[in-house]
Amino acid sequence: MQNTVRNLMVIIMLTTAPLSAQKPVHHTDKGFRNPFPGFEDRGFADFLKWQVMERIQGKKPDKPDRYNFELVKNDGSFLLENDTTLTVTWIGHSSLLIQIDGLNILTDPVWSDRCSPVQFAGPKRHVEPGIAFENLPPVDVVLISHNHYDHLDRRTIEKLGNRPLYLVPLKIGEFLDDLGISNFEEKDWWEELVFNGVKMACVPAQHFSNRSLFDRNKTLWSGWVIQGKTHTLYFAGDTGYFPGFAEIGKRYGPIDVAALPIGAYLPRWFMSPVHIDPAEAVEAYLDLQAEYFIPIHWGTFELADEPLDQPPKDLKKAIERNNLEAGKFLILKHGETRIFEPKKDPLALPEHDKIHAIPGK
Ligand code: ZN
Ligand code: ZN
Repeated sequence: MQNTVRNLMVIIMLTTAPLSAQKPVHHTDKGFRNPFPGFEDRGFADFLKWQVMERIQGKKPDKPDRYNFELVKNDGSFLLENDTTLTVTWIGHSSLLIQIDGLNILTDPVWSDRCSPVQFAGPKRHVEPGIAFENLPPVDVVLISHNHYDHLDRRTIEKLGNRPLYLVPLKIGEFLDDLGISNFEEKDWWEELVFNGVKMACVPAQHFSNRSLFDRNKTLWSGWVIQGKTHTLYFAGDTGYFPGFAEIGKRYGPIDVAALPIGAYLPRWFMSPVHIDPAEAVEAYLDLQAEYFIPIHWGTFELADEPLDQPPKDLKKAIERNNLEAGKFLILKHGETRIFEPKKDPLALPEHDKIHAIPGK
């Protein structure tokens, strides 16, 4: 009798196993993949072709050594007092400080001089962080999009310590664990969490991950949606153009503010699967049906073939081509804060706080 029951159990386990073991389409045996139609992977050989062959062939465009980016003086004092109003401050690259419903949220925080495994080589910061680290308001949540060095910075996380809750895509927890960080949650695409009344959702992106030659796509990549009482924001992380934008807009819209990457897009043959260019960022903004657009992933670290100050110029052309309202595109300077109050309309700051917010162009 016992044997019969055991055999029956085995049969039930075997017949139900394929269902329970069914993996999401972006999961693989070794990690993760981009499941979106038309995606073409670029491997290490392509990377060498770009970095070595095109250099030898003289295809690398000349770029200036120095840029004149304006750094808005932001001592953080307004942000320290604000616990009611939605604000977005551009620290540089993909690092944003978002204040929503009293929460201070950092996206992909990088305060280091270089986004690199070492601080004596690798892409160097062209503009100081928009707020000095010690002037930050207490950070409640850190959102990480993926593990590339320009998004996941060990030194900054060591400085932030265990106080914030870190929300990371699947398998990035081990990296935090190694740094002694225990206050984290790993999320898969479309998984959500509500923290102090603010919903945060891990959403798909078309990108990849690696920190060495041997760990490609072992950790997941994502964007994040932040949904507070009155406003919804979308932080795209790094991504190529993909159908996910429309889907994210459909699930979480109306989106008030979309932070979309506009830099690191040349050469297109290499970058387009994993990095949108400014024209595609405008397409993404339209797919999302978002109201405001804040460009990120530009002007700070030189990672690709276009000059660091090229992306906003191309963005402005795309805005004009599409006959869009320029006032909806908030091209922030490093350190600049935008205030959204109380719903939809970004307001210029009162006179005495002008230092923190330059009205958009
Ligand atoms: Zn990346
Ligand atoms: Zn990046």
